[in-house]
Amino acid sequence: MPFSRSVWNAPSGGRISPAPLAQEEGVDITVIGAGFLGLSTALELARLGKSVRVIDKNEIGTGASGQNGGQVIPGLKYDPEWLLEHFGQVRGEALIDFAQSTADAVFDLIDREGLDVPRTRNGWIQAAHTEKALATAQRRDRQWRARGADVRMLDADEIERLTGARGYLGGWLDSRAGIIDPLAFVTQLALMAEKAGVRIAEGAKAVSISRENGAWTVKTTAGQSIRSRFVVIATNAYSDELLPGLARTIVPLHSFQIATAPLPDALQRVILPGKQAVSDSRRILVYYRKSVDGRLVLGGRGRMAEPKSEADWKHLERAMRRLYPALAGIPIEHRWFGRVAVTPDHLPHIHQPEPGLLTVVGCQGRGVGMMTALGQRFARYIETGDAAVLPFPVSPIRPIPFHAFWQIGVAATIAWYRLLDAVEK
Ligand SMILES: Cc1cc2nc3c(=O)[nH]c(=O)nc-3n(C[C@H](O)[C@H](O)[C@H](O)COP(=O)(O)OP(=O)(O)OC[C@H]3O[C@@H](n4cnc5c(N)ncnc54)[C@H](O)[C@@H]3O)c2cc1C
Repeated sequence: MPFSRSVWNAPSGGRISPAPLAQEEGVDITVIGAGFLGLSTALELARLGKSVRVIDKNEIGTGASGQNGGQVIPGLKYDPEWLLEHFGQVRGEALIDFAQSTADAVFDLIDREGLDVPRTRNGWIQAAHTEKALATAQRRDRQWRARGADVRMLDADEIERLTGARGYLGGWLDSRAGIIDPLAFVTQLALMAEKAGVRIAEGAKAVSISRENGAWTVKTTAGQSIRSRFVVIATNAYSDELLPGLARTIVPLHSFQIATAPLPDALQRVILPGKQAVSDSRRILVYYRKSVDGRLVLGGRGRMAEPKSEADWKHLERAMRRLYPALAGIPIEHRWFGRVAVTPDHLPHIHQPEPGLLTVVGCQGRGVGMMTALGQRFARYIETGDAAVLPFPVSPIRPIPFHAFWQIGVAATIAWYRLLDAVEK
């Protein structure tokens, strides 16, 4: 392997005892995919008294939920006024409420259940390096403050003090946000689901779904089958052709991350002393934070193909040293990556192609809070059949026309934006 495992740690002694599939099983609900969405849905359903089977083709934590940046940020890419304008008063307000609640969903769960998940809730900084980015942050600030959110603008001095980085004109602090160890969270979520009665199988890949006499049958590569009244497909950016067309409704981008060695005390005091999460406003987003053991963890877009060597992370090392020249002598000890699902309209898409078959794709890199909260809504929807509990409208599966070319276009756009970012630096 040209790169190492992620910097995140599953809590010691905190793994589930996987329950391998029998040749034939029957349950109320089958969940395919054991990330935040699948596990959060399964946990809530089990607590509502349902029998739930979760299967994942890999080990828990190997999908995006165990590999991400651990930034728990409420909200969507869009602000309240845009949501009201595009979705109308009723749906727009419901979406704003949901968007506000997503970070709470994670932190409340961790606190209420006493989960062993390293966390800090000191906010998220959207750092602006141009006047245009600052104006965008000001619009965002006005809209969320009008709704009583704990947010505020930062001037150039304050953002320099909070981040320790040079060159930002200012930024926006959203104190509703925070950071967690995502691998610890997904592992603990699985454990909690298991304790609630959910049976979880790893290494079980779903290859077909069919419906007969009102019941669904999910089949795996090993020929096992699970019959259930309802199926949730929680495969997101890792979706394949299990549900025809689904994988072609998203552009699966790669997000790459690096983590330094633990920083010496002198740098700890200067770089993110308050342990906030940061997203940089450049066109090709970089995001960063510190880990619980004091490393700087920084991520951003990576090549569309799988990485081949450490050189594929070099652009992130350059970004890190541009922000923090003092890190020049500090080695990079971890390099890893995962898949993010982006939709053309930058909103998550919920689909229910047939009764009893539910899925969502596309969390645009905001899935820690969103997928945890959405899982809770999925469970309520399955229990009640009330579509009003789903924050996003249910839409038909519409593959992106010329999907393969779209990906080439994205790669070219990324290269172009990197160039513009370098010029505007
Ligand atoms: C590098 C990176 C950094 C990110 N940083 C952040 C961040 O800081 N903050 C934030 O909010 N979001 C972030 N995200 C996004 C976030 O991680 C995801 O939105 C979220 O984890 C999605 O959760 P999920 O449960 O929907 O999907 P996943 O966690 O990806 O789970 C899908 C699962 O489905 C399984 N699967 C797929 N096909 C099959 C099949 N046929 N049969 C059985 N199993 C199958 C996969 O093995 C996988 O485990 C980041 C993502 C990446 C990759």
